[in-house]
Amino acid sequence: MGLSTFAFQKCISGACGATYGLEQAYVACPKCGDLVDIDYEWDRLPIPDKLSDFSKFWTQRNNRTRFSGVWRFHELMPFASQDLLVTVGEGQTLLQQADSVADYVGIDQGNLFLQYEGMNPSGSFKDNGMCAAFTHANAIGAKRAACASTGNTSASLAMYCAVTRLMKGIIFIGSGKISYGKLSQALDYGALTIQILGDFDDAMNRVKEVSKKLGIYLVNSVNAFRLEGQKSIIFRILEALNWELPDWIVVPGGNLGNSSAFGKAFIELKKLGLIDRIPRIAVINAGGARTLYELYEENGLRWNQGQPDQLIEKSYFDQMDQDNAKASTLASAIEINRPVNLHKCLRALDAANGIVRQVSDQNALDAKAKIAAGGMGCEPASATSVAGAKLLKAQGVIGSSDRVVCVLTGHQLKDPNITVAYHSTDRQEFEKVLGGYGVQRASFANHAIGVPNDLDDIIKAIKLYS
Ligand SMILES: *Cc1c(COP(=O)(O)O)cnc(C)c1O
Ligand SMILES: [Zn+2]
Repeated sequence: MGLSTFAFQKCISGACGATYGLEQAYVACPKCGDLVDIDYEWDRLPIPDKLSDFSKFWTQRNNRTRFSGVWRFHELMPFASQDLLVTVGEGQTLLQQADSVADYVGIDQGNLFLQYEGMNPSGSFKDNGMCAAFTHANAIGAKRAACASTGNTSASLAMYCAVTRLMKGIIFIGSGKISYGKLSQALDYGALTIQILGDFDDAMNRVKEVSKKLGIYLVNSVNAFRLEGQKSIIFRILEALNWELPDWIVVPGGNLGNSSAFGKAFIELKKLGLIDRIPRIAVINAGGARTLYELYEENGLRWNQGQPDQLIEKSYFDQMDQDNAKASTLASAIEINRPVNLHKCLRALDAANGIVRQVSDQNALDAKAKIAAGGMGCEPASATSVAGAKLLKAQGVIGSSDRVVCVLTGHQLKDPNITVAYHSTDRQEFEKVLGGYGVQRASFANHAIGVPNDLDDIIKAIKLYS
């Protein structure tokens, strides 16, 4: 009972590798400043013989932790005992075969799948990690939890506070873009919301300072426990594919928590002998926030066994400071220039023969319209995964017979302003919302038909258009 004595925190740096207990969550290794992981003495823990053993937990769905789509895989993230696990029923998400999206991407029917993480209780994948961070925070007696957020982390934190009543939530947001859907959640759930004059990267720096000073538990994705929970997205994808491995996982890249967690999940599954190969991971940046793309694809930054080239990194970020460069994209959830999980993502890319691409807001919004027209929809940042898959197919990197899973990170209703503007017939409305981001046309707009309030005219219009 309690936090596991077979779990520990470990610095990911190949030059350091210091280990620590679980008494506090380190946002950085105290010795060298690199990121820390949650690691396990796996040989002292009960691991199923094969992944399909997890299927039996579906019959235990009246057990609240097995009902959770995260804790159903507790054995693969065993840092706390069963009685400590915090859950609000997260992870009831769906892998949908989307043939019309396969057409759009240009791959064979039956080979494109959308993983709908927007179906989580707060409407984004963030709940997968928040239940794990809350489990740890609660186990060490934290009474306040804070985050800086482009929106979905704050919505998730606020919801976990409201439902579990274990902690008071404090949210830092910048003054730039935050979608109303997300902000409305934080306010409605009753979290203390602090809006500072600055962007996300500024809010991130402040929340780190403040939580250190006041001893507040930080639940940003630098929190390694969150990433443990996010591994479950991969486990559910494999479960939905009847434990077969896809060829590609395509995921948007913001702070790079998801891509890092995916890589860690695959590395561990392979190490435990539960899979025999690792699918390729493609991380997709928005063109207006393409740090990973530039560092990895253009400047050749690599994991390098835990010692990424500091010179490449430093000169890149120094230049960014010098130019006072700010991220700018309609995909607000990934509007991030300084991804905190950069090194962990490099490790994931290394293990998964990974690749990084950037897509324009134009292509992301067109992909978003196609996703919704062929399924249940997503928010703009999520659609970069499909736009990225389409680009990779066009470049011949993804083949038409490859099996591809695109992760849709957030719910369609998170950001309705952008969707309505895209489909609008009013060019001014279109320009006002989308114009500053290089979006020139709505290639797949579904315009509302304006009709006089007259029965004959209405009937005429319906006959004409249906
Ligand atoms: C947080 C978020 C992302 C970015 O994920 P990272 O793990 O930070 O790379 C992408 N899409 C949505 C909808 C998000 O909320
Ligand atoms: Zn270290």
